[in-house]
Amino acid sequence: MKITSVKSHVLQYELPEELGYSQQYYARRTAHIVEVSTDEGITGWGECFGPGAIAVANAAIVEKVIAPMILGADPLDRDVLWHRVYNLTRDHGQKGMPLQALSGVDIALWDIAGKVAGLPLHKLIGGAHRTRVPAYGYGMMLKRESVADHVARFADEAAAIRDMGFVATKMKLGLGPRDDIKLARAVRDGAGDGFRIMADANHCYTTADAFHVGRALDEMEFYWFEEPVAPEDLDGYRELRAGLRVNISGGEAEFNRWGWRAILENRGLDIAQPEVCALGGVSEYLRVLALCHAHFTPVVNHVWGSAVAVAVNLQLLAAMPPLPGGLNPWEPMLEFDTTDNRFRDELLAEPLDIQGQVKASGGTVAVPDGPGLGVEPDRAFLAHYAWNT
Ligand code: CA
Repeated sequence: MKITSVKSHVLQYELPEELGYSQQYYARRTAHIVEVSTDEGITGWGECFGPGAIAVANAAIVEKVIAPMILGADPLDRDVLWHRVYNLTRDHGQKGMPLQALSGVDIALWDIAGKVAGLPLHKLIGGAHRTRVPAYGYGMMLKRESVADHVARFADEAAAIRDMGFVATKMKLGLGPRDDIKLARAVRDGAGDGFRIMADANHCYTTADAFHVGRALDEMEFYWFEEPVAPEDLDGYRELRAGLRVNISGGEAEFNRWGWRAILENRGLDIAQPEVCALGGVSEYLRVLALCHAHFTPVVNHVWGSAVAVAVNLQLLAAMPPLPGGLNPWEPMLEFDTTDNRFRDELLAEPLDIQGQVKASGGTVAVPDGPGLGVEPDRAFLAHYAWNT
């Protein structure tokens, strides 16, 4: 079996309204789907993390840098190909875009392996520890509106996401420490006592500001405080983890086993959030998962992007061993963005209908059991939303 082509599909559409997080506002949604074809007619699908123009640059890495390294090779040799690509690009980026590009290709090779074996990805890894995964809904994005309008909207949105059936919800921070505490209070009031809530700073604070906000989150019984400080600030992470009760989470901006080794050995995380579409694909995710569990750090995957990313994450969450084990073990969750996303809701020939499943089941989503990722993109949809740069 031979790889005959490696193609990127970069998709984009105008959002119905602008959304923001602590670093920027955005008005368009992008997705970057990778398609690997073979001489035996089997096609694998993957996805690369990275919005907007980042996706366009990543597509150039996929098609101009990685494709020539693997064309003609056996797609089942995915770990051999991973290391060939990584070793040949190491001098030009051990983190960031080369790894994001490699991730999409690696995921597609795992999809091919599953289709060749006639098995879902979770079976290739070792089986399903769970056949349904609880989902949390995030929303409560920033907008160009007053603090008072944010407060009112965050309270309403927290209640709405709870009523959709999600098992937890997550808000954005980023107006500044004093106003962010007001937003957190609105979310606690909107969601009600006892509902699991989390806050995501997208690394907008200094350590001192993060302590200020974190103490308020402690009082309001938030479950986790995500990316409080810059991903490079390993000591800030360690100090916050030692000094706050709320779980410190992060890792979506960390790459490969060597990056993860540093943050874990520094004891900076209560909960790890690896992004399979960025850190190096399924091959590298499995090594990072083992590293996290070797440090007794539970994992809740970071999930962003299209239905392809959701499917691969459902497969990985199914195959994640319990940590720690027990009669009532700690359970991971599926991250789900409740804002407008056609690439997740309409990309597939047979949509996953996450919202419908959550509503009907009391907050859980079934793991796809078809071969590979268990999902197939609709080619007419890919053509319709292609971003011709
Ligand atoms: Ca995040």
